[in-house]
Amino acid sequence: MSEPAIRLDGVSKYFGDFQVLREVSMRVGTGERVVICGPSGSGKSTVVRCINRLETHEAGVIEVFGREVGNRTTPEALGREIGMVFQQFNLFPHLSVLDNLTLGPMKALGLSRRDAEERAMAYLTRVRIPEQAGKRPGQLSGGQQQRVAIARSLAMEPKVLLFDEPTSALDPEMIAEVLDVMIDLAEDGRTMIVVTHEMGFARKVADQMIFMDAGEIVETGPPAEFFAAPKSKRCQTFLSQIL
Ligand code: ADP
Ligand code: MG
Repeated sequence: MSEPAIRLDGVSKYFGDFQVLREVSMRVGTGERVVICGPSGSGKSTVVRCINRLETHEAGVIEVFGREVGNRTTPEALGREIGMVFQQFNLFPHLSVLDNLTLGPMKALGLSRRDAEERAMAYLTRVRIPEQAGKRPGQLSGGQQQRVAIARSLAMEPKVLLFDEPTSALDPEMIAEVLDVMIDLAEDGRTMIVVTHEMGFARKVADQMIFMDAGEIVETGPPAEFFAAPKSKRCQTFLSQIL
């Protein structure tokens, strides 16, 4: 495998007495696309939130490009390496689309407004909505807002993109426009970790599938095997419910 971008080794996490992650281990190679699926409450969001330090972990090791991220590492410190796209977009509602994209590069990367705007327009073009630059997020459809959120992550030019159920909050007719953009990014050879139940997308782009249940990784494998012959009963049941 190529050099790991992300490595988790025996990561455990508790919310009070409740163990939400149970010795989770995974390797994500540079340029690799990993899709994580599993029932609601299985710990998928918590895994990605631990990777980019929106959550802390109690045991095990998390490394980003060979450097351990500890519980004092802030999401901001990882901002140049890891971008995140959330289910609920998390755009700044009072800022224009353009300003949503220029804020991070100006503040965190020190770009001039002019350079940040040029970069923002390039990524809005990439997600196919440059004409929306002057609007507020609330004036856009859900699919457009999520594409803005993707462009905002891209504008920081992170090495890894994390997506947490990016299409789950969207009306069905808007899912494809977001998945198309993500497929496009995957074809660029970007390193991506995607939590999703969109199994058509997974089949198309994933190098590695991960199935989680009750805080642990139950099954992993390349999509061809994973979908054709899931080994565990839990994974079989899950796939039969969503496919
Ligand atoms: P998934 O993304 O797979 O649906 P999550 O990672 O969001 O699962 O949550 C896993 C479990 O941890 C769930 O049982 C959830 O209720 C619990 N949980 C998540 N966040 C918190 C929190 N901040 N405090 C307490 N329990 C939490
Ligand atoms: Mg979740």
